[in-house]
Amino acid sequence: MDRTSIRQAAERLRAAQRVLVVCHIRPDGDAIGSLIGLGLALQAAGKEVQMVCADGVPGSFHHLKGSRQVVGRPSGDFDACCVVDCSDLKRTGGVLDNLPQPDLNIDHHITNLAFAQINLVDPQAVSTTQILASLLPEFGLPVNEAVAAALLTGLVTDTIGFRTQNTTPAALRLAADLMERGANLSELYYRGLVGRSFAAARLWAAGLSRLQKDDRIAWCTLTREDRKAAGYPGKDDADLINILSSIEGIDIAIVIVEQSRSRVKVSWRAQPGIDVAQIALRFGGGGHPAAAGAELNLPIDEAVPLILEATQEALPQPEALPDGQAEITII
Ligand code: AMP
Ligand code: MN
Ligand code: MN
Repeated sequence: MDRTSIRQAAERLRAAQRVLVVCHIRPDGDAIGSLIGLGLALQAAGKEVQMVCADGVPGSFHHLKGSRQVVGRPSGDFDACCVVDCSDLKRTGGVLDNLPQPDLNIDHHITNLAFAQINLVDPQAVSTTQILASLLPEFGLPVNEAVAAALLTGLVTDTIGFRTQNTTPAALRLAADLMERGANLSELYYRGLVGRSFAAARLWAAGLSRLQKDDRIAWCTLTREDRKAAGYPGKDDADLINILSSIEGIDIAIVIVEQSRSRVKVSWRAQPGIDVAQIALRFGGGGHPAAAGAELNLPIDEAVPLILEATQEALPQPEALPDGQAEITII
C-alpha cells in the first residue's frame, strides 16, 4: 500500500458525508468485522453510513454493536463507496451493479483485482481488519470499543484463533491493542469460532458421515437435503472446513456445498507450501494460498469429479515441497 493511495483515500473519505460500505456475500467474521468496524468509525466521525451485505449478518455476529444496521441492498445517494474484504466486485453479490466504480477497495486477498479507484490491498495482512486498524488513524477515524470489537473479530476469525501460519507478532500486538480499547477477546473468540448451533453440529454430522480421503486430500459434500434435515438456515458449510483441515496427514481439505440444483460452492484449505488460490482461480474463484473458494455453475454430481481432479493436479509430489514441510501438520 503506497502512501499516495492512503492519502487519497483519507481525502476522499474526509470530503464525503454519505458513505456506503459493502462486504462480500456469505460473509465471514472478517467481512462483517471490516464492514462494521469501518462503518462505526465513520459514524463516530459524524458521517451518514450505510453498511451493506447482500446476505445480511449471520447469527454468530449479532452480538457486535452495529450489526442491526446492516442492510441487504444500498438505497439513496452516496458521496463515497468502500468495498471491504472482497477480491473482486462479483463478491459483493451484485449490490453495486448500477452504481459508479467504488472509491475504495480495502482487502488482503492475493487474488484482488484492484477494481476500485483507490486500491488499498495488502496480501501480507492476516485480515482486512488488520489493514483497517492501521488505516483508521490515517483517515482520522476513532477506534472506540465497538470498532475495536469488530476489528478483533476479523483478526480472530481469519487466523482461526491465531493458528494460521501467517499469524505474526504484529497481529498479536494488534489483538492486545484492541483488547486495551475494550474488545473482549474471550467472548469474541467464542462467538466467532467456537459456539455453534445444534443445527450446525447436525450439518457437520451429515458431511462427516460421507468424509472421503483420496491420496492426501480429505473432502466431503453438503447437500440441500442435509441442510433441510439438519434444520440449518444458511447455505454455508457451518465452518466444517475447519474440522477437515485439522485432520493429520492431509495436505488439502475440501468441502463442496450444494447451493441449488445447478450451483455449488467449494472451500479449499491447504497445508503450508501448497497454493489452493490457484485452483480456485481456475474455477473463477479466489482467496489466499492457504484458504480459497469458488462457485461453479454445475450440478453437484458433475462438479465433484472436476474439483477433485483439479485439486489432485495441484498436489505437489512430496519431494517438491520445501524442505521440512512434507511432514508438517498445522492446526
Ligand atoms: P471460504 O472457503 O468461503 O471460507 O473462503 C476462503 C477464502 O477464499 C476467503 O478469503 C474468501 O474470501 C475467498 N473466496 C471464497 N470464495 C470466493 C470466490 N467465489 N471468489 C473469490 N474469493 C473467494
Ligand atoms: Mn472474508
Ligand atoms: Mn478476510
